[in-house]
Amino acid sequence: MTAAGQTPLLLPGATLGVLGGGQLGRMFTLAARVMGYRVVVLDPDALSPAGQVADIHLKADYTDAVALMRMGELCDAVTTEFENVPARSLETLAHRCRVAPGAAAVSVAQDRLAEKDLARRAGCETALYAPVSGPDDMASAWAAIDGPGLLKTRRLGYDGKGQARVDGPDGLAAAHAQLGHVPCLLEGFLPLEREISVVLARNPAGEIAFFPVAENRHRQGILDVSIVPARVTDEVAGSARRMAAGLAGSLEYVGVLAVEFFVLADGRVVFNEMAPRPHNSGHYTQDACVTDQFQQQVRALCGLALGDARQLSPVVMVNLLGDVWRPEPRWDLLLAHPGIKLHLYGKAEARPGRKMGHFNCLAPSLEEAIALAETARLELEIDR
Ligand code: AMP
Repeated sequence: MTAAGQTPLLLPGATLGVLGGGQLGRMFTLAARVMGYRVVVLDPDALSPAGQVADIHLKADYTDAVALMRMGELCDAVTTEFENVPARSLETLAHRCRVAPGAAAVSVAQDRLAEKDLARRAGCETALYAPVSGPDDMASAWAAIDGPGLLKTRRLGYDGKGQARVDGPDGLAAAHAQLGHVPCLLEGFLPLEREISVVLARNPAGEIAFFPVAENRHRQGILDVSIVPARVTDEVAGSARRMAAGLAGSLEYVGVLAVEFFVLADGRVVFNEMAPRPHNSGHYTQDACVTDQFQQQVRALCGLALGDARQLSPVVMVNLLGDVWRPEPRWDLLLAHPGIKLHLYGKAEARPGRKMGHFNCLAPSLEEAIALAETARLELEIDR
């Protein structure tokens, strides 16, 4: 910060760092390089998707003191592409260069309990929840949620992993054992009508830009399709945006923040979880918005004005998981559609459930975009 309280602008030519070399880091790196920034990626994997396209790839662990020192020397600012980066690494870097989002925001998102507590304080509605660390708190946790629930690991859960359904108090011990006796959160099971997400960007001046609300469909706990704009009322979209902005403000957040919500049959909008980074459900912005979520991450990190987040076309984003590699998808069929934009992550090995890429289906109306996505999914045999 300058004496006037303003964050100096980092202009093209500056060097940006990203912790993590997965697909989100890759798309950030590509966006930053297109805008004229140099990019340093820290990731231990020599073949990481982001490392392949970076100016410099530091091949080391996220806790490697020497690599963090080097990154701090090389970079004017550092961001992160996944929430499980140790907060200590961000704190270490923050002594040497700008880091956004900060360690506090990232560490809250690492713990479902801290995240839910924060969401409540920031004015979000949540499911009923209670911590479960061992047999002693099971009875009180069950009493707190008042009905069937989901037991979720507090840390390192993603894509529906680290969860077990609990239908009665007797099932709690078995579910906790199934999850390895780690600290958990018991959540009341909600009647979901839809799942939606808000991706926003907040810059150091506190300005917020919202991307349109996405409607998300999952398969086996993994995001399958995002439909944008979400088919929800203005009230639902508005309350999701308000809650997401409340969270960002309470964290004095700088960067791109994704917040997932449930929409219930009675129209209530309930916070589920947040990610302190661009999000799979924001990939549609790459082809359908004036500014995409990765360009926006660059702008927020660099203290620039945020880009216009307006949507230019109805869109459906479809994820490509490794399951579709048998051995390689029929790209000829997919790319025969003029309205389809393909994004691949440069991962050498396709494994079931592994995110390999996605494609965006653009059309003049949402109905046509949905139909195009259906056709492409059938051609690629995505549901097989
Ligand atoms: P999560 O990892 O918390 O995003 O949960 C993965 C998926 O499980 C969500 O996308 C929902 O489909 C479902 N889910 C999670 N929490 C609940 C809940 N409290 N009630 C009903 N379904 C849930």
